[in-house]
Amino acid sequence: MHGKLTCPFCDYETEVVPQPAECPHCGTPLRYECDLAGAAPGDLHGRGVWRYRMFLPDVEPVSLGEGGTPLVPSLRLGEEMGVQLSFKLEGANPTGSFKDRGASVLVSVLAALGARKVADDSSGNAGAALAAYAARAGLGAVLFVPAHASEKKLSQIQAYGAELVRVPGPRPRATEAAQAACRQKEDLAYASHNESPYFVAGLETVAYEIAEELGWRAPDHLVVPVGGGGLFLGIVYGFLKLLALGWIAKTPRVHVAQAAACAPIVRAFERGLAAPEPVSVGKTMAEGVCIPAPPRGREILAALRDVQGTAVSVPEGEIALAQKELAQKEGIYIEPTSAVAIAALRRLIEQGAIPPGEEVVVPLTGSGLKSGLL
Ligand SMILES: [Zn+2]
Repeated sequence: MHGKLTCPFCDYETEVVPQPAECPHCGTPLRYECDLAGAAPGDLHGRGVWRYRMFLPDVEPVSLGEGGTPLVPSLRLGEEMGVQLSFKLEGANPTGSFKDRGASVLVSVLAALGARKVADDSSGNAGAALAAYAARAGLGAVLFVPAHASEKKLSQIQAYGAELVRVPGPRPRATEAAQAACRQKEDLAYASHNESPYFVAGLETVAYEIAEELGWRAPDHLVVPVGGGGLFLGIVYGFLKLLALGWIAKTPRVHVAQAAACAPIVRAFERGLAAPEPVSVGKTMAEGVCIPAPPRGREILAALRDVQGTAVSVPEGEIALAQKELAQKEGIYIEPTSAVAIAALRRLIEQGAIPPGEEVVVPLTGSGLKSGLL
């Protein structure tokens, strides 16, 4: 397999391995890199995530046609807010969220490295995506979920035949249980959507698609909902790779959107900290971004400063309003986690972080069909 795993903060690098790995010097989760010297847009073929396979691990794809999602111009909200706004409709992916991009690449790598069974801790979109791609690859899947996770969310995961392990206690217990099981059982690969370098590599394709659709150009801004930060990092790294290749002339400013009930990145950004401090969590409808201690927190803050982004949090009322507005004014039905970015966009414009008339793309991370209207 070409490519290697590298540390975002120091010179450490190692060969491609199945389990998520941390840098032995600084403890940071590693990321996937490969040699792109001489690559040109003319080398791209096919559609969707695997159109960009020169950027991805060199493996046989486990695919359901993920990626290639519509970039749709706003007809009303953008004009109301005074910006040129477009939406990337990630709910159009096979299981209804952007996580399919990461799951497709991660499961492809694990299958190529000989995994028979994969495990993750998620009761939401990532769990559903992993279960679907494991089924597609003919692999077993075990999902460790909080005992209090809603049955509605679990039904999609179960439909794909994944085994569920209900873990009592707060959300981080499910992560610990998944990690412990993978350490004990040799045949179980930890397919962590928050830590695996291959998952983030798959999410970089959001940046490639946007840039290509705009004629190899970046918009002025993106606003991204951030929990574990995989999508945010994927988008930033994707645009930075295109800039390094000379395929685009500048990177966009990429902004972080979080729910006020759980905003560790926003708090650390406002205080000028290098790494987030654990926060206590309030109740939020945006369950997909409720990660109080993101494993890639330090990396998110560094990337945010690299692309001159800013970070804002939004209260529950504004999230619910944004979800409704998008459905009624644009005809787009999204889950509350996606609505966090729309509510944040309004605040970023009010604060002057996004000046009038500039071009903004918001990835709408998942379909409202999964969550219902709040
Ligand atoms: Zn390091």
